[in-house]
Amino acid sequence: PKVAIVYVVDPYHEDAIAKLQSQRNLTVILPGDPRIKSYHTDATHILVRSETTIGEADILKARNLKAIIKQGVGVDNIDLQAARRHGVIVCNTPGINSESVAELTLALALSIARRVCEIDRRVRNGEKVIRSKTLGHSLFRKTIGVIGMGNIGRVVAKKWVGAMEGKVIAYDPYAPDSAWDDMKDVQRTAQLGELLQQADLVSLHVPLTEQTQGLIRKEEFAMMKSNAILINCARGGIVDEEALLDALREGRILGAGLDAMDVEPPSLEKYGNTLLDHPGVIMTPHIGASTIENQSRSGIAAVDILCKLLRG
Ligand code: NAD
Repeated sequence: PKVAIVYVVDPYHEDAIAKLQSQRNLTVILPGDPRIKSYHTDATHILVRSETTIGEADILKARNLKAIIKQGVGVDNIDLQAARRHGVIVCNTPGINSESVAELTLALALSIARRVCEIDRRVRNGEKVIRSKTLGHSLFRKTIGVIGMGNIGRVVAKKWVGAMEGKVIAYDPYAPDSAWDDMKDVQRTAQLGELLQQADLVSLHVPLTEQTQGLIRKEEFAMMKSNAILINCARGGIVDEEALLDALREGRILGAGLDAMDVEPPSLEKYGNTLLDHPGVIMTPHIGASTIENQSRSGIAAVDILCKLLRG
């Protein structure tokens, strides 16, 4: 068996740590250990989530580094090209967190439609909320536009049909034909504009890439329905936040649920007088995957990948 020095640079669930520590021939260094900062000197493997950024300098300094294992899907916090150039393998745990992210997507959508957070705030402020003047929107049988029909987008689509009896229109020019086989209820479109015009709820489930950077900007908001809700549980940068703010302020869309934004975690300094001053906005600090069930499953999956790599 090979000997490995494993640096866990972000917090992992205790189940995953227990599994890691039960492996033989591993040196495991956990978050909080002062050696974490110097992982570049002797790490053979790095376990990461989305908190830590791993750039070329880190990869270069870790001369014995063989693999970076990401608990989660989006690998935009890792310099993939540098890893490839220096022969470092990068793995992630696709598919596992889809249910949790899809649940948050629906939670944000329903909360905005029914004004849950806004009304809760008013109740806490001692206001007598007049129901007849505080009507929400029902999402029953409404249309969701799913942008990106990968693991998460597909679960969102299924939940939408099951829970809302709703229609689904989806845009994903890169998904293979097989991805649509069990999606018979889904209207597939090759035109993003068609989706934006039809959807009551526009939900983003694409990775952040050069192509998806600024995918939703002024022109896209102009095509959306005036009662549309935008959900971004994918990545900041996909939505142009200036254009979103304008669209909200001008009443061109109803609201936005953001679990991903340009500046994370979102702060009052950054968003207090802009997006957060709109009652139709809900912001959460990248908690899509943050359920006990998922953190345990995804963490163990990352450890399983490590074990597989070590077995060769
Ligand atoms: P996935 O790889 O299974 O699916 C991504 C889909 O996007 C693929 O089908 C791909 O073809 C499609 N796509 C790529 N570029 C596109 C484009 N320009 N236009 C339309 N479609 C495009 O990934 P997933 O598991 O579904 O996750 C999607 C994204 O969600 C991740 O990349 C990650 O950034 C984000 N995410 C966020 C959280 C969170 O905590 N909020 C958690 C997990 C994942």
